[in-house]
Amino acid sequence: MTGPLRVGVLGGGQLGRMLGLAGIPLGLRFRFLDPGGDGSPAAAVGEVVEGAWDDPAALERFGAGLDVVTWEFENVSAEVVRGLAERVPVHPSPEALEAAQDRWVEKQTFQRLGIPIAPSRPVSSREELDAAVAALGLPAVLKTRRFGYDGKGQALLREASDVEAAWARLGETPLVLEGFVTFRRELSLVVARSTTGETRAWPLTENVHRRGILRTSFVPAGIEGAGRAAALQEEAERHGRALLDALGYVGVLAVEFFETGDGLVANEMAPRVHNSGHWTQDGAFTSQFENHLRAILGLPLGPTGLRGSAGGGAGGGAGMVNFIGGIPERSAALGAEGPVVRALHLYDKSPRPGRKVGHLNLWGPDADAVRGALEELAGLADRTGEG
Ligand code: AMP
Repeated sequence: MTGPLRVGVLGGGQLGRMLGLAGIPLGLRFRFLDPGGDGSPAAAVGEVVEGAWDDPAALERFGAGLDVVTWEFENVSAEVVRGLAERVPVHPSPEALEAAQDRWVEKQTFQRLGIPIAPSRPVSSREELDAAVAALGLPAVLKTRRFGYDGKGQALLREASDVEAAWARLGETPLVLEGFVTFRRELSLVVARSTTGETRAWPLTENVHRRGILRTSFVPAGIEGAGRAAALQEEAERHGRALLDALGYVGVLAVEFFETGDGLVANEMAPRVHNSGHWTQDGAFTSQFENHLRAILGLPLGPTGLRGSAGGGAGGGAGMVNFIGGIPERSAALGAEGPVVRALHLYDKSPRPGRKVGHLNLWGPDADAVRGALEELAGLADRTGEG
């Protein structure tokens, strides 16, 4: 494979843009399908075909001459992906997409594979909601089965009087009620598997959310005790590999976990590159974006260790701060003294409340210094965006 390869991406958001940025050095060319068209963040790195996901003419233009198709937005219809798969290799498979699109199906997959989840019940009527609340107790979290992201489509039920309002807001669509998990921290595992079967996992990432939206990520996760950290990494990778095998998965898969006193509880998976893996662009030897592309093209995967640990030191760290609803001055974001490297990633999006418009990656040989800088920059992000 030496000539240019043409990669088609469903979706033209920031994840598409970052796939393009990672793939251009490999000699890849990109075409995106996006209802947003030329205004898409991905427009800077490839051709954008503007059209609805199910517009046959747009799909025709999008699919022509591509070597492989993937997606950066998982709420595309599996039907559409299946149609494309008849003409061009599509990775991950439409089946993997479907397994992750519905929270209840996803939970059943986790359970079948022995991956612990919060006690959960499907809910499609007010009676079922009352029965689920009685069975699981409160607090609990009510979530839409489909189309939820960044905390949208969910309601925290603290007490019985919250049930009515949550039902009024969400009851139109199929739901799932989950018991509230008291967690020590939130962790995510990003794994990649190539068409050749080669698999690589990045170190577990510690994530902090606010109002359901990822605010910061940090690696190594602050798990107490080296022995426990190694055990949780192993446990997460075991679950990740079980999912890759069960779904016949090719590409990058992210799995979000709660760390509890009893180990990991899976929350959800994303069949794509993931916000909690953005630190890998700068802080890991190979980024999630590059390994996703290598995986779907059957190329050897790159190593996934922490760059800050190069040279044998075990003390390296990496982190990411999301810019939500506002972009800080470039000089304020980048200016720093000391051994922490900062890398700014802006998405070409106009700020709106709750909208991710960029992020800053940090890495260096001293994990404590990286964590300190992360806190400082999270403060800057709050002052410019949403505090
Ligand atoms: P999700 O859209 O499922 O990723 O949920 C967004 C965020 O809400 C999670 O990252 C958690 O911070 C919180 N959350 C979701 N489900 C639960 C739960 N069952 N127990 C406690 N917190 C939760």
